[in-house]
Amino acid sequence: MYSIIIKELNFYLHKTLNINEIKCKEMEYFQHSSKEVEWNRFVPETRQIKIILNKSLRKGEHIEIKFKYSGVLKLHEEIKVNNIDERWVELSSHSGWHPLYEKLDKSVFKVELNLGRDYEVCGYPYAKPYGDKWILSSDSMAADCVIVASKELKVIGDTAVDNGVRVYYVGSEYEDAAQKIYQSIKLILNKIEYIICPITNINLAFIIAPRTEGGGYCRPELIVISNKLINSNFKQLKFITHELSHIWWSQASWSTWEDWLNESFAEYTTLMVIREVYGEEEFDKLIQDYNAESKGLPPIYGINRNHEMANPVLYKKGPIILHQLEQMLGEDKFKQFLRNVYQNKISSTNELVNELTAIASDVVVNKFIDSLKE
Ligand SMILES: [Zn+2]
Repeated sequence: MYSIIIKELNFYLHKTLNINEIKCKEMEYFQHSSKEVEWNRFVPETRQIKIILNKSLRKGEHIEIKFKYSGVLKLHEEIKVNNIDERWVELSSHSGWHPLYEKLDKSVFKVELNLGRDYEVCGYPYAKPYGDKWILSSDSMAADCVIVASKELKVIGDTAVDNGVRVYYVGSEYEDAAQKIYQSIKLILNKIEYIICPITNINLAFIIAPRTEGGGYCRPELIVISNKLINSNFKQLKFITHELSHIWWSQASWSTWEDWLNESFAEYTTLMVIREVYGEEEFDKLIQDYNAESKGLPPIYGINRNHEMANPVLYKKGPIILHQLEQMLGEDKFKQFLRNVYQNKISSTNELVNELTAIASDVVVNKFIDSLKE
């Protein structure tokens, strides 16, 4: 019988933070590298913390590790999606502000922020005021902990309850844009619900970050965009739709090639929404572009998520493969397939093929598998 045995654990933490103490009964010793270690292109500038264990761990075994660390987080200016200064705080796993396990496995979080109540805080997990502090506490396993804070943060939308859609922005000049985005979100959610299936209890914070550079990102209940996007209706709709689609498409691991189940599905859902809103012609034009951009790209199947062509493969070629599948199945059956994939919480390509086998002929299934491998 084969079982996974682990004798060391590797964590990563931003290079400007220092370990004061690590407490763990199963630890022999730890090493904190003095130099930056490259391990994941989404999280630059980290140093490795290698924990050598005094016993071998088997899969499923629990241990407790307590890290005590401190420092002044100084981020490289190239990391546009994280920031920490007087006016704007934006922290996520991109900065490695807390120890990250090497496989970026999901975790539970409880974070206490001693910021004072003159700051408005918004985050994932949901940030609740508590005395003069803020608490972010997750009910279930989460892939990231995001903290956004500013004294100037304003909010519109369904603000009476922690349920509904809220749009956050900084600076009164963005109030109109925030209102428009709130209306767009409602419209887009409607369209995606029509294409895939309705969801209950949407709790969503949408943040217009006061920065023009760096892209946006999405966590299950939180979406961040840069304010550059608010001037283009089409780009904005396309981007917001992609991010909102992740409410349905976020089950697969985002550090392996299975991330195509998140990214290609979110992007193709976006194209389907564009077909609904702007019509067949606009949709066909995008399909042509994506086709052209997919020429010569490596296969989706097994592609390393850090491969230099991984993004065009997942964002351009993947949607083309899903478009071909829609053409083979017909629109209604394809929508049924999307619904099944969502409702059955499919998180691997093997499971996806099983779902397809249940509703499609062998010829279609084989063509689909071939398209992933070519
Ligand atoms: Zn995405």
